Amino acid sequence: MTKYIYSFENGDGKNKQLLGGKGANLCEMKKIGLPVPDGFTITTEACTAYYDNQESLGEEMEAEVFDHIHQLEVKMNKTFGSTEDPLLVSVRSGAAISMPGMMDTVLNLGLNDDAVIGLAKLTDNERFAYDCYRRFIQMFSDVVLEIQKFNFDRVLEKMKKDNNLEKDVDLTAENLKELVESYKAIVKRHVKKDFPQDPKVQLLMAIEAVFRSWNNNRAKVYRNLNSIPHDIGTAVNVQSMVFGNMGETSGTGVAFTRNPATGENSVFGEFLMNAQGEDVVAGIRTPKPVLELEEIMPDVYKEFIDILAKLEHHYLDMQDVEFTIERSKLYFLQTRTGKRTAMAAMKIAVDMVNDGIISKEEAIMRVDPKQIDALLHPTFDERAMKEATLISKGLPASPGAASGCVYFHSEDVVEQKANGLKTILVRTETSPEDIEGMIASEGIVTARGGMTSHAAVVARGMGKCCVAGCGDVRVDEVNKVFYVSGKEYKEGDFISVDGNTGAIYEGALNTREVKLSGDFGVFMAWADEIRTLGIRTNADNPRDAKQAVDFGAEGIGLCRTEHMFFDEKRIGIVREMIVSRTTEERKEALDKLLPFQKEDFVGIFKVMGTRPVTIRLLDPPLHEFLPHLDDDIKKLSDEMSIDFKELKQTVEELKEFNPMLGHRGCRLAITYPEIYEMQTRAIFEAVAHVMRVDKLTPVLEVMIPLVGHEKELSLLRELVVSTGDEVLKDARQSLNYKVGTMIEVPRAALIADVIAEHADFFSFGTNDLTQMTLGFSRDDAGKFIGEYIQKNVFERDPFESIDKQGVGRLMKIAKDLGRSTKPDLKLGICGEHGGEPASIAFCHELGFNYVSCSPFRVPIARLAAAQAALKKGSK
Ligand code: PEP
Ligand code: MG
Repeated sequence: MTKYIYSFENGDGKNKQLLGGKGANLCEMKKIGLPVPDGFTITTEACTAYYDNQESLGEEMEAEVFDHIHQLEVKMNKTFGSTEDPLLVSVRSGAAISMPGMMDTVLNLGLNDDAVIGLAKLTDNERFAYDCYRRFIQMFSDVVLEIQKFNFDRVLEKMKKDNNLEKDVDLTAENLKELVESYKAIVKRHVKKDFPQDPKVQLLMAIEAVFRSWNNNRAKVYRNLNSIPHDIGTAVNVQSMVFGNMGETSGTGVAFTRNPATGENSVFGEFLMNAQGEDVVAGIRTPKPVLELEEIMPDVYKEFIDILAKLEHHYLDMQDVEFTIERSKLYFLQTRTGKRTAMAAMKIAVDMVNDGIISKEEAIMRVDPKQIDALLHPTFDERAMKEATLISKGLPASPGAASGCVYFHSEDVVEQKANGLKTILVRTETSPEDIEGMIASEGIVTARGGMTSHAAVVARGMGKCCVAGCGDVRVDEVNKVFYVSGKEYKEGDFISVDGNTGAIYEGALNTREVKLSGDFGVFMAWADEIRTLGIRTNADNPRDAKQAVDFGAEGIGLCRTEHMFFDEKRIGIVREMIVSRTTEERKEALDKLLPFQKEDFVGIFKVMGTRPVTIRLLDPPLHEFLPHLDDDIKKLSDEMSIDFKELKQTVEELKEFNPMLGHRGCRLAITYPEIYEMQTRAIFEAVAHVMRVDKLTPVLEVMIPLVGHEKELSLLRELVVSTGDEVLKDARQSLNYKVGTMIEVPRAALIADVIAEHADFFSFGTNDLTQMTLGFSRDDAGKFIGEYIQKNVFERDPFESIDKQGVGRLMKIAKDLGRSTKPDLKLGICGEHGGEPASIAFCHELGFNYVSCSPFRVPIARLAAAQAALKKGSK
């Protein structure tokens, strides 16, 4: 018989897969002697069994639950449903990978018409007991019976209004008793049954509800966003209740062992006296900074600080804890590795290495490469900020800066994003239902809630900027407007949100580049020591090349020469070249283009110095450069002194049905060799120039795109070598340079041994390789990929992360065949995948020499490459 339940004393604190993160940590905390209320964990395997068993727990599991409840009763010397000393428990979800707020929880379970009397007697506080009972009915109804909260809130608000009361805490015991009866009546009306009075029945229903919540919509969305598998299930933790709402010597809070926004090494947290955990997280009352606990309860505070230090020392990482004080006694309800901003992640990692707590290797594994993205994003321009009108100031809950139009509802934000609009989600407070809107927005503003509110925690995890708790803002979600200082801001108005300072401004502000802290440099240098993959960049101009070098790029892996053609001054000449009727005419146009290309290459060589520069010869279909509007055709016909009709006909003839599979890449040069000849000439004239003038010897690699047949490559290699050598000879210079090819047509991958005979290197163009391997148009697949992912056909978009099974297999074949011809053949990747961590790890596994990505992804790639090296244990 499978064992489905472990008491906290008996569980293996290392086994998160089985016990979930929360359950495993509760077991671990018990083991190291921390004050944790007793309880037990129902395993993730039980959740999968529940689903395999047509969503039923089964008799054996039920018996195991009752057995553990009995043990808990004995341990606590309390009884379920007792009118003297009732046992009350919390029932909480806890998956192996943390999914904060995505699944359900029930507190105060075990209360019924008898137990509430017991609780009142025990605490000598009838008001407290009935307050717990009415909270329990509402929560159980919401989570288990699926009766929406507002049904209860309405009655509560009416009760306060009828009695002229302002706050919930003003309600008397009599009020609360009446409320309990009204709540029970609501339940009866909705489910046509009495509110379940048997605590064992309540417990089984709650466990099932938590298992079901694994598959609620927001949990699925969160798993998709964070690439968490859908079939691993959640554990359930049943824990005896302790109460933070037993009066003024009780309280509850959340805390981090270090500051999760900045990484500063000091305890950071918030608490509320006389409250339950949900009050802190929901942001309904504004909590106090945890430092103030020292004044209120110095002894408890000292114990609290000591335990935090013990926890961090034990887990060797920053912890995020929930705690409760029940009548001056401190309890820890959970600990987990704290989520943190990119800036904090970097600082904590560097500080912990410097303090000898962890190794450099561990530090490297701790920072998520995706988080680095957030560090590199711009902030608002200082001048723009000074001139801007400040709307309000709240808490700087998650750093970054964003401008967008105000929207109040998650679904509106999602809709506007689909229309291409940038939005800011503004709400009184957010809840897990808002997850899709939070993902789709540029930034988030809430009127209520602290640094640990839902909005703050989730936004930080996403690396999205967020300002929370703007006390002077009043949000009216129904009428889609917010008010502040007598002014109103409606749906669609532009605002700017600064998550670093907490400021909100009118209008859209300019942003400025990021300055990276010293920790960033130290950390990235460690990554460089560890990684074996080279990191290059895709850059087509000196500015981008410089940016990439500043971010640590070691060379250019792809310079797309066609990008230089779209410049306003050049496009006319390019069009002339395309519509030329004779080779002579074409050469004339190409001669005009040559100085421009040469100038570009000189600029790039100067920035890159002795770092390698891979220049790809013209690739896109000529179709892309054609004038399509009659006005443009007319202008061109005037410039070229040719007849409008004749030119229009030429344009028509050049149009293609499938341009991406058409006359492009090396195919252009097979038909019009003079194009590549001009480009080669420009490249080598630039080389000769910098060698003469700047005394610089560039490391040049010329690359031929879209090769599928070895003859394409051998012919064009010959063209490049003869043209290049001639230019060098005329300039009395000599240079060792390479000529290689892209591998982006599946045929090239399949005959890579033959192709390699003519290539000094391969660079995998995985954008085209994916397009042609899958037969998915890279320009149109976006329309259906979303659904493919939703239906689990693909786990990830194959244009974002390499489809290892298919495209990856071709890459491996090409690598093996290529290196069978030339064992030292240099291999790289320059498709978009070159900046994506999972794809980078794959390239590392294949033994590539480098990855190449856009400048802003260079630091991500450096870290991902170091992590890949550590995972493979190759260094
Ligand atoms: C590729 O196909 O992966 C590539 C880098 O080339 P482009 O995106 O320019 O077609
Ligand atoms: Mg390509």
